[in-house]
Parts: sequence; C-alpha cells; structure tokens
Amino acid sequence: MEWLGKHFVLVDRFFASSKLCSRCGWKNNNLILREREWTCLACGTTHERDENASINLKNEGLRILKEEKDITIIHDDAPTVGTTGSYAFGDDVRPKEIFQDLFGQFSRKKESITL
Ligand SMILES: [Zn+2]
Repeated sequence: MEWLGKHFVLVDRFFASSKLCSRCGWKNNNLILREREWTCLACGTTHERDENASINLKNEGLRILKEEKDITIIHDDAPTVGTTGSYAFGDDVRPKEIFQDLFGQFSRKKESITL
C-alpha cells in the first residue's frame, strides 16, 4: 500500500515494543504495566515508556520495510507513533513497492504503524 508517500506496516502483536531499550536493544523482562518510566540496565538510558515503545515500533517498521520489502526510508522526520493502533507520519520512501499481501495479515496481527 502506498498512500501520499506513506507505507502501512503491520508489526507482530508479540513484538516487545515497551520492553526493549530503543538505544541498545536490551530487553527489560521485568517491566510491568504501571511503570511509566524505566532505566536500561545495559546502557543506563532512562526511557519514558510510550516514547520508547514508539521508537521501537518505528524502528521495527523500518526493519520490516527494508528486510521484507526492500524499501529504504530516505527522509526520516520525527515519529509520532504510540503503542497499539497508533501511527507515525512524515516519511517519504522511494516509490517502488506496493504491498499486495497487506490484507492477508490483518487477522493475525494487531499492532500497526504507518511509516
Ligand atoms: Zn539500553
């Protein structure tokens, strides 16, 4: 799908967007829901939970685009993604791909972002 230069990417519902350190990739398996802020034990970065998750979702979306669709984002504006069902806007991509399998993934995926 390509719409006004944006790509809609479905991220696996089990992707640990809140628990991963967006800076170094360390996974905080002890993070509980009411913790809004946490500090990475590997690199020491303090994260605001939703902001960290949005960065991870964006990065995961970019990874999926690159690895599975061979699309590279060439302009990367500030993300405005949240967790489940939220969106990031402002990226342009090389117009070379159309997602044909998009709707086949809806039934088993939950989290999504638009890049
Ligand atoms: Zn870290």
